[in-house]
Amino acid sequence: MQQILLTDPGYGEVKLAKARAKGGYEAFAAALKRNPEEWLETVRTSGLRGRGIGWPVHNKWSTVRSGATETKYLIINAHEGEPGSFKDRALLERFPHKVLEGALLAAWGAGCTRGIYYTDVAHDDALEAFQRAMDEAREANLLGDNILGSGWDFDIKTSVFPGDKYPNYVYISGEETAIIEFIEGRRPLPRNKPPFPAEAGLYGKPTLVHNVETLAHLPGIAANGAPWFRAMGTAETPGTLLMSVMGPVNNPGVFEVEAGTSLRTLLEDIAGGVIDGGKVKAVAPGGPGTAFIKGDAIDVPIDYSTIASAGSQLSVGATWVIPEGMCLVEECIKIQRWYERMCCRQCAGCGMGTSVIYSNLTDLRRGVVGTEYLDYIMDVAEWIPGQGICDFVERCSQPVKSALTLFSEDFLQHINEGRCADGSYSLVNRKFFDPTAQDHGEQDMPYRP
Ligand code: SF4
Repeated sequence: MQQILLTDPGYGEVKLAKARAKGGYEAFAAALKRNPEEWLETVRTSGLRGRGIGWPVHNKWSTVRSGATETKYLIINAHEGEPGSFKDRALLERFPHKVLEGALLAAWGAGCTRGIYYTDVAHDDALEAFQRAMDEAREANLLGDNILGSGWDFDIKTSVFPGDKYPNYVYISGEETAIIEFIEGRRPLPRNKPPFPAEAGLYGKPTLVHNVETLAHLPGIAANGAPWFRAMGTAETPGTLLMSVMGPVNNPGVFEVEAGTSLRTLLEDIAGGVIDGGKVKAVAPGGPGTAFIKGDAIDVPIDYSTIASAGSQLSVGATWVIPEGMCLVEECIKIQRWYERMCCRQCAGCGMGTSVIYSNLTDLRRGVVGTEYLDYIMDVAEWIPGQGICDFVERCSQPVKSALTLFSEDFLQHINEGRCADGSYSLVNRKFFDPTAQDHGEQDMPYRP
């Protein structure tokens, strides 16, 4: 299986000298000598999709490029606040120059004049690695004025959200318009859209926001061309994807797979399968903000379209595994509690809906409500999408909605007996990785090339 991000194809090194000795920044230097429109066309032809929502990268670039103002911003979103996602940190800590070269290529293609590296204070190792890379790049005239004699000026500042002081904002402070609000000196609350950041973002200027994984793909495309990238993955999702596999599997970690690899291969062959020879009961392929797929349906290929066809979302690829024997009621309570805390309460429907689902699930867990609550919770879960101004409201009810549909027996068990079928998986006895603990910065995920 081809790997292009988490292995070293020639320039993925922490030190600039080593990276350059292996060809690092050569693709960027070559791109600087070409018309940026040509480079944008290469990215369009490559089919690269943003490694988050999956939007075509070139669309954002075109919008930013065509903006009327001279000042245009690039925000490198290294916040990675999605529960269970560790891929961007894996890249930054080990391949900071690949990310930086990608940022330069994005800025050049979209016509950006200033950059901001945005992260949470908890991700200090990644921040340190990237800052060191930027310092080295400035010394080598890869950042700053008149880069490599091209006449193009571009530099990057850092902005760090203090998630340790504001734990209830650790998720929403990674939403792209909330990032812009924070950088402008306000509370990190999402803005109404439109206008989208690419049209009018930071200080009202066209602003390109990309996460780290998206940027890290650009040096490879610049060096090897669009056909090279398209030769990997699927027609819908060319290239490779970073998947953070969490839960009780033998080999949890961050893995790079070609798009089109099946979920079964990822979970059983690469992540080593469920511990103690167990079986997968459910999996949320994109993390706790995405719908569950049943364990007997994991032969689905991983790409944005096929996962959507299977009823879920790929999102940031934080794959959450629930084994046989684990209760979906308990898992839903855990994630809904987290969503209830993380909702910023700007939108009445989002605030009310997350609270109602959480409180009703806790009553259901104790067996003090009847089966009519299944319909009530589902009704609220189906109502929430569209009741707010950011993507949070589209995601927060996905797990419970799918769990109610696919695993109604777990909910009926609680209604009838007030407990899980197997008490060993109660919240009190939890012993597995908890995706929602990430907001405290205390969990780490192994990196597995
Ligand atoms: S949808 Fe929810 S999280 Fe998003 S802005 Fe509204 S209240 Fe905040």
